[in-house]
Amino acid sequence: MTEKILNYINGELIEPVGKTYLDNINPATGEVYSLIPDSDERDVELAVLAANAAFPVWSNMPVAQRSDILLKISALIDKNLDRLALAESIDQGKPLWLAKSVDIPRARDNFHFYATGAIHLATEAHAMGNSAINYTLRQPIGIAGCISPWNLPLYLFTWKIVPALASGNCVIAKPSEITPMTAFLLAELCREAGLPKGVLNIVHGLGPKVGAAIVSHPEIPAISFTGGTKTGEWIAKTAAPMFKKLSLELGGKNPNLIFADCNFDEAVKTAVTAAFSNQGEICLCGSRILIEKSIYEKFKEAFLKRVSTLKVGDPLSDDSRMGAIVSKPHMEKILAYIELAKQEGGKLLAGGKQLQLSGKNSKGYFIEPTVFENLAYDCRTNQEEIFGPVVTLTPFETEEEALMMANSTQYGLAATVWTENLKRAHRVAAKLHSGIIWINCWLLRDLRTPFGGMKNSGVGREGGFEALKFFTEEKNVCIKL
Ligand code: NDP
Repeated sequence: MTEKILNYINGELIEPVGKTYLDNINPATGEVYSLIPDSDERDVELAVLAANAAFPVWSNMPVAQRSDILLKISALIDKNLDRLALAESIDQGKPLWLAKSVDIPRARDNFHFYATGAIHLATEAHAMGNSAINYTLRQPIGIAGCISPWNLPLYLFTWKIVPALASGNCVIAKPSEITPMTAFLLAELCREAGLPKGVLNIVHGLGPKVGAAIVSHPEIPAISFTGGTKTGEWIAKTAAPMFKKLSLELGGKNPNLIFADCNFDEAVKTAVTAAFSNQGEICLCGSRILIEKSIYEKFKEAFLKRVSTLKVGDPLSDDSRMGAIVSKPHMEKILAYIELAKQEGGKLLAGGKQLQLSGKNSKGYFIEPTVFENLAYDCRTNQEEIFGPVVTLTPFETEEEALMMANSTQYGLAATVWTENLKRAHRVAAKLHSGIIWINCWLLRDLRTPFGGMKNSGVGREGGFEALKFFTEEKNVCIKL
């Protein structure tokens, strides 16, 4: 029997008002394995009513008490780690070991980090000599709308909702309709932890219906969105005339700059991880690998050797390094980009095809890790986000040329630099047009640091106190002495 996912509104797990459901597909088997509420604006309206009713109690609760409840949820995520990881792997297609070691621990840590962080959020005071003193009141906004994507489902969902909740807001959240399962399971844990009803409401369904209803609702004054740049553009256009607070974390086309003076083995190993982790479906993946010409051939050979050892297989097998692509339409989009790369003159060095597995995975969506060279830095393959296991290798002669190519896209999310030359590392980091720079590493994350992109990769920063501040309204109080 297929499991029915339910909306979480006013503390209850309930059916959508319209009583209609969408299919939820396991991408590793191609089979429908659960049903998702096909909610609409009526469900969002119920969530708004519940959140408005819950707001006075939640926002006035002492922060330490709010923190205790959120810490309980963190502990429950930990207790249910194996169950949540399995659900994430089945829903998303990612290897189970990855969900166990990264996604679910990170969701737990997001709760822990912001539950404790909110206690330490201080406000400023500005003394005007002996004449007056100003202090800043930082108050919750009301209802926050949080919309998240399918690539790191529970990890990114919690990255948004927890700072909103910790700073005293009620939340209406929509996970991606492609990967709703762990948000549904989280609702059960919130009930178990005693989160007051109406504080968190999770409405499942399609972006253009539920997502759009959240963005357009006049009683939801802040929107935190992670997803594609096109969707972000629509959200910005819709929310701007209502003067909503907006945090937009959007797409990327991240360069990985490999200089000849790098630690070669580390650079090769990490470049492969950065390219193909989570099937290349991480907004931070390094998909444009720029290599100094003097080591280009050597790097290419070592990179390809390592790529040839990556096993694509059943996400539930321990030895699968890569699992399934999240959905059939997304797989088709990636395969179309592979064709485009060939048309643009790309030389295929590895992969390039859909992979046909056997047995229960015979109808799953798998793609080989794919590597191209011989593509101009400004062709579409090198400029547009593919968001899959497809990377390009491009040689450069000078630091200036590397920077020019790295900065040539509309995006500016993350960049990686490999060099043992400290001066070069600082110089290049300062000149890259990216919000996040890794030197001699990738995806090393400290949750206190500002996270986000420049250019078309987004507006605003998440992480640390920034996120708590985003979900609060600042008020200056000036007292004449
Ligand atoms: P989408 O933009 O398609 O969707 C993101 C979320 O927005 C989903 O929940 C989606 O719902 C919803 N949505 C879609 N249309 C609307 C709408 N009109 N109004 C409100 N909400 C809507 O992105 P993907 O899910 O495909 O995610 C992949 C993208 O996310 C990539 O571009 C990737 O780079 C980016 N990303 C960015 C990150 C960052 O931190 N900068 C991190 C991770 C991913 P539904 O699923 O039902 O369509």
